[in-house]
Amino acid sequence: TKPPGRHFHKDRQLWMPLTLADFEAINRCNRPLPKNFNFAADVLDQWAQKEKTGERPANPALWWVNGKGDEVKWSFRELGSLSRKAANVLTKPCGLQRGDHVAVILPRIPEWWLVNVACIRTGIVFIPGTIQLTAKDILYRLRASKAKCIVASEEVAPAVESIALECPDLKTKLLVSPQSRTGWLSFQELFQSASEEHSCVETGSQEPMTIYFTSGTTGSPKMAQHSQSSLGIGLTLCGRYWLDLKSSDIIWNMSDTGWVKAAIGSVFSSWLCGACVFVHQMAQFDTDIFLDTLTTYPITTLCSPPTVYRMLVRKDLKRYKFKSLRHCLTGGEPLNPEVLEQWRTQTGLELYEGYGQTEVGIICANQKGQEIKPGSMGKGMLPYDVQIIDENGNVLPPGKEGEIALRLKSTRPFCFFSEYVDNPQKTAATIRGDFYVTGDRGVMDSDGYFWFVGRADDVIISSGYRIGPFEVESALIEHPAVVESAVVSSPDQIRREVVKAFVVLAAPFKSYNPEKLTLELQDHVKKSTAPYKYPRKVEFVEELPKTITGKIKRNVLRDQEWRRR
Ligand code: ATP
Ligand code: MG
Repeated sequence: TKPPGRHFHKDRQLWMPLTLADFEAINRCNRPLPKNFNFAADVLDQWAQKEKTGERPANPALWWVNGKGDEVKWSFRELGSLSRKAANVLTKPCGLQRGDHVAVILPRIPEWWLVNVACIRTGIVFIPGTIQLTAKDILYRLRASKAKCIVASEEVAPAVESIALECPDLKTKLLVSPQSRTGWLSFQELFQSASEEHSCVETGSQEPMTIYFTSGTTGSPKMAQHSQSSLGIGLTLCGRYWLDLKSSDIIWNMSDTGWVKAAIGSVFSSWLCGACVFVHQMAQFDTDIFLDTLTTYPITTLCSPPTVYRMLVRKDLKRYKFKSLRHCLTGGEPLNPEVLEQWRTQTGLELYEGYGQTEVGIICANQKGQEIKPGSMGKGMLPYDVQIIDENGNVLPPGKEGEIALRLKSTRPFCFFSEYVDNPQKTAATIRGDFYVTGDRGVMDSDGYFWFVGRADDVIISSGYRIGPFEVESALIEHPAVVESAVVSSPDQIRREVVKAFVVLAAPFKSYNPEKLTLELQDHVKKSTAPYKYPRKVEFVEELPKTITGKIKRNVLRDQEWRRR
């Protein structure tokens, strides 16, 4: 019989495993999607095989540290046998079956990776969440997803207990902790006695694999469901050409386990390329520990949200000698060109920005080898056909601002999310004519580079001009007084709507005269970008409202402004 994800090799008269080159060909639409695919069997177990034959360098698959002297290093072979044990824990004592929903709320501990792979081996649909979720957030997620089981750590166990009775579908609570707790099964105990024998389920390529909640930057998080192949094969080009990974690389992706960025950088893209996933379980982000980690470990590839780089460039980075770092990435939010410039002068390294969504993975990226245009998100990534469209779904020419959209017809790209679970209205609302609309506005230049303007809701219309907050924020951050800012619309009698900037000041500027500083910042913006964009109102604040992922919630500030009226 034919194992999943293998193809018949005519010359050799054999069923051969699909290779990275095959996955690349599928992404480039040069090969059809196989009927069956399973990331554990078709990717991870293939790397384990290559370890045996010496076709892969002696580089761990997972390398975990916690800064307290604890360390875990697993090869793909070890990851294979340990995840088979974990698979048996899920199916036997937890009684879970293929297609069941499981919420996984764990910090960056090795078990998170085991549970992910165990779910893939068994066809159980996993739903990651961050440990920063409150009881109310967890309740929303458990009810919305109808999860039968929750895998959680001690940090969130009390919150789960406080709402568990309100979740009729929740049957099992599995605790990952050295301690046991009443009402919970113990992962560690069950894992000890679980068998290493497990045969991987033969999953269909289009069968559901995971549900990721969106960040909730603009409202309640939505449940984006992904198939076995959408991330499992669909992130090949992202791994090879944006992350620039080979099996000898070590990637440190900072993303929290609850967001799709973790799936992209710490699971699928990296392991498709056979690279080592490096994890540092920091209780809290700390720039000193961060810089120390880069100087101590042979990390070759770094992926962090823009906020981290904004903090780092305020340090004297020339003092640090990074051990092996050669490729740096960012995404999730726009990166101000000023920060890119400073990172480059201070470290001698480029910063490659990518643009994506929970729903569709990486859409645009500055790929290795392409010229970087500071402030741009790079070019569209295959298999997507990225276009700028107008409100009627017509493609706009280069230079014209509109909505960033992906062509759906004639075939829907396989790496798309399948739907927002239980929300046909929201799913349907993403479609306009032949396109999927991202809800973001941007411009494509004549070289095919995309420039982010803002979330469609964040764009400010003042005296007939459309103003994207990102450009104004990028102008502000060039000024030494500005650490961060958020630009939103504010009501105005004459213009109806004007630009207002909320600004976090650098420490030495906090004692300055605010009126004078306001004038200085306004003047600076007028010189740096088209004068009509300058913020007519400026307010100095200690911090900006952000999502757990660190994204600025402009809608909170905007609502506050309009309510004040
Ligand atoms: P929600 O959809 O729940 O409001 P969200 O859109 O923030 O939350 P995510 O899927 O995590 O949820 O984020 C995708 C969004 O993040 C994009 O639509 C875009 O607005 C923003 N984004 C991601 N990468 C970039 C980037 N490089 N530049 C600008 N914006 C980006
Ligand atoms: Mg969104």
